[in-house]
Amino acid sequence: MSPPDSGPMILIRRLRQIMAERGTGQERLDKIVRQIANLMVAEVCSIYVRRQDGSLELFANEGLNPDAVHKTHMKRGEGLVGLIAESGDAVNLAEAHTHPSFSYRPETGEEIYHSFLGVPVIRSGNVLGVLVVQNRTQRHYTEDEEEGLQTTAMVLAEHLASGDVAGALAGPGARVKVSLIKGQAMSEGIAMGHIVMHQPRVIVRALLSDDPQRELQRLSPALEMLRGSIDAMLDRREVAEPGEHRDVLETYRMFAHDAGWVGRIEESIGAGLTAEAAVERVRNDMRARMLKRQDTYWKERFRDLDDLSDRLLRTLVGKTGTAATGALPEDAIVVARNMGPSELLDYDRSKLRGVVIEEGGAASHVAIVARTLGIAALGQASGVIEMAEAGDAAIVDADTGELHLRPSADLIAAYSDRVRFKARRQQRYAGLRDVPAVTRDGVKISLNMNAGLLVDMAQLAASGADGVGLFRTELEFMISSGLPMKDRQTEMYRKILDAADGRPVVFRSLDIGGDKMLPYLRHDKEENPAMGWRAVRMTLDRSGLFRAQLRALLKAAAGRDLRLMLPMISQTSEYERARVILEEELLMSRRFGWPEAGKIHLGAMIEVPALLLQLDRIFTLADFASIGSNDLIQFLFAADRNNPRMANRYDPLSPPVLRALKMIVDAAARAQRPLTLCGELAGRPVEAMALVGLGFRSISMAAAGLGPVKAMVLSLDAGRLAERMPAMLDSDAPSVRAELHRFATETNVDLGVEPPAIHESFTI
Ligand code: PEP
Ligand code: MG
Repeated sequence: MSPPDSGPMILIRRLRQIMAERGTGQERLDKIVRQIANLMVAEVCSIYVRRQDGSLELFANEGLNPDAVHKTHMKRGEGLVGLIAESGDAVNLAEAHTHPSFSYRPETGEEIYHSFLGVPVIRSGNVLGVLVVQNRTQRHYTEDEEEGLQTTAMVLAEHLASGDVAGALAGPGARVKVSLIKGQAMSEGIAMGHIVMHQPRVIVRALLSDDPQRELQRLSPALEMLRGSIDAMLDRREVAEPGEHRDVLETYRMFAHDAGWVGRIEESIGAGLTAEAAVERVRNDMRARMLKRQDTYWKERFRDLDDLSDRLLRTLVGKTGTAATGALPEDAIVVARNMGPSELLDYDRSKLRGVVIEEGGAASHVAIVARTLGIAALGQASGVIEMAEAGDAAIVDADTGELHLRPSADLIAAYSDRVRFKARRQQRYAGLRDVPAVTRDGVKISLNMNAGLLVDMAQLAASGADGVGLFRTELEFMISSGLPMKDRQTEMYRKILDAADGRPVVFRSLDIGGDKMLPYLRHDKEENPAMGWRAVRMTLDRSGLFRAQLRALLKAAAGRDLRLMLPMISQTSEYERARVILEEELLMSRRFGWPEAGKIHLGAMIEVPALLLQLDRIFTLADFASIGSNDLIQFLFAADRNNPRMANRYDPLSPPVLRALKMIVDAAARAQRPLTLCGELAGRPVEAMALVGLGFRSISMAAAGLGPVKAMVLSLDAGRLAERMPAMLDSDAPSVRAELHRFATETNVDLGVEPPAIHESFTI
């Protein structure tokens, strides 16, 4: 460890002076190499700068042939210099010529130099270049010298990043290379915009300190805060159960208390760095070490430590908030390692175009919010934190599951066309908003919207939907950090009804379990959660939860009609039990003299095949029914709705599904009970067309489906389609999709064809 006034520190101070002097960036670089050579008693000092293609160009030099400057280029990975840039690690050799990576360049005249010390020039995790000193003698550079050169390289990185050196790639420019990152679609759509890092990276500018004691005193409370925040996260109810999230936090805690990590930071402070420069310095070393390891376990651990270093840096500089509170570009694409659903809601919706998350997948809660907000989102975007930089141009294509970073002009043009096409279509749909959904032959179809969060309700009026056909109440529970108490629920439901402004809203009682787990609710692990203790099964068993929800709904609906339906009814007795509980709650609310709701409609969802064999009975009991086609189809085919391998295996537009739906339509007609369908089927034009053909007069779908489905309805002759349906129902084919398309073409039904997807491959 070097004292603050050691040789390296004198050198660094001298470099800072040079950087403040007048002159061009190149002149300053020339002075810097001279100064380093001088103070390190080296005969040669060279600076190589990394170019777009990964090659390294000799940018400044002392001791070699001056003509080689800007002429000597090392290919990516070539020579000792290439090795340093790729590995991010120092190379210290008494005899460089015998190293397998040594590459001789006659134009430099370096054959007479034997000893070699090279270090990477790293900033914010990016290798910007390589700094080398060489000597004629076969000497071994000491640890202090190596340490000093590393710190010098940090100062140099600042100079290169300032953009002052003509031709050197700096800051975001250092990453101008186009990159393609593959992810998993969390929310459909295309977004073009500029990157915002959810947790902004801290750029360390204050590198040196005369007062190590003061820096240690700054480090200590920051570490305490960091440890405290990890402990607090571990104490939260969301991570009470063992699981991946808890494991990550446990690892963080382990690192935050790791004497080795903290010790290395303290050592760097002792050598004259500021606390934040010391954290950055140790992070760079770790990065170099981890890059050499092949095993994913260590790479994962490094990511944890990298993340922890980021947190510590933010704590040190007092920037612990997310980008949501800062200035945003007009077209923000937010990149995060991970993000809670409410954090996404913190962003200004008018500026948010897309979200890319390194870890979260389609089933994550943030994905639900992204879909709700209607913004394109990708999850499982491995490497995005490292590759993306704030301000980078980017295209999120959730239709193909791709993120294009720093796209080429051609790609931007292609996407702009596609986005314009979609916008024109959207405009056309917006024009249909107030047009009643009536088919060409005069059949009125009620088109409703599915919702799940209060923020969805803003779209109700804008979409022109007749009402909310499915309000998934569990979503607000899922994004909440704890079980919402009755009063909060009442407030929530009241706001939803207010926002609906008289249009009907069908609430669905909690459908938790299956793929919708509440992290704060104890729940035993199940082999088959989709077929397990979920939905009405759970709420009937834990009637306290159900009663609290009923009470909140009854109170919120004071003076207004209340529509409520029960998910996953498998036996009619379940409906009857729920009805008894509702009656009891009603009685109690009357006894307390609470203001009464208007008419109460209690419906049943038809989504378990067993109910198909109890249709007449359920229709005599229930006030209405709504088909949950997502679940009904997954159970009919015994094909997991979340398994991508099953996604295209069985076509919903197949005779067995259509026959099941027709059975339900006929039973509802016999009982003269209202029937609707609220699964994803309703939001796709061809599927929705088939539903109308089967006799559905009311359907409910995600807001994005309303425009295309209304365009279909307006161009459809429902009578002609109904005549074709019996033949399709009788068919032995696995799918009747082609026949439906044929009908649409023959009779000019508008099915809103998508433009072809754009695929372009780039090497990263
Ligand atoms: C369904 O199953 O079709 C449905 C509407 O409910 P969810 O998708 O919430 O299970
Ligand atoms: Mg369902």
